Amino acid sequence: MLGCSDSRASVELLLDQGFGDVFVIRNAGHVLSPGGSALASLEYAVAELGVQAVLLLGHESCGAVAATVAHLRSGGELPGSMPILVERTEGHLDPAAPEDRAVERHVAGTVRDLLAASEIVAEAVGAGRLVVAGGVYGLHDGIVRLIDAEAFES
Ligand SMILES: [Zn+2]
Repeated sequence: MLGCSDSRASVELLLDQGFGDVFVIRNAGHVLSPGGSALASLEYAVAELGVQAVLLLGHESCGAVAATVAHLRSGGELPGSMPILVERTEGHLDPAAPEDRAVERHVAGTVRDLLAASEIVAEAVGAGRLVVAGGVYGLHDGIVRLIDAEAFES
């Protein structure tokens, strides 16, 4: 599972999972960089641990996604290494209306990026050994809604 670092998005609590149940990778805005550690960790889970499902989990009111929307509107620079977070998110958003379903679009784009960037993942999906899904956690109702990644393809 790749999810956001937000303190309200603890996957074990959200999915009612316990010790030893889920292999979890989290960073601000659940970003997946080609050749980056999140992608390598997901590939490790698929190739070495034999996981059968990968969930890309975003959440409502994501500050990292909101920062990307603000960046697209203002064009301002983020300090330090934080531009990586924006770079891996902005391409998934609607340039004409970046705030429109931004979290859903980013999750859907990240699912597509994962399948495109990883031969290990794509091969496992093709062989029927792995399912890749995207979802958004509702902070207000506590429900994880799966999303159709292809519905947001631009
Ligand atoms: Zn977040």
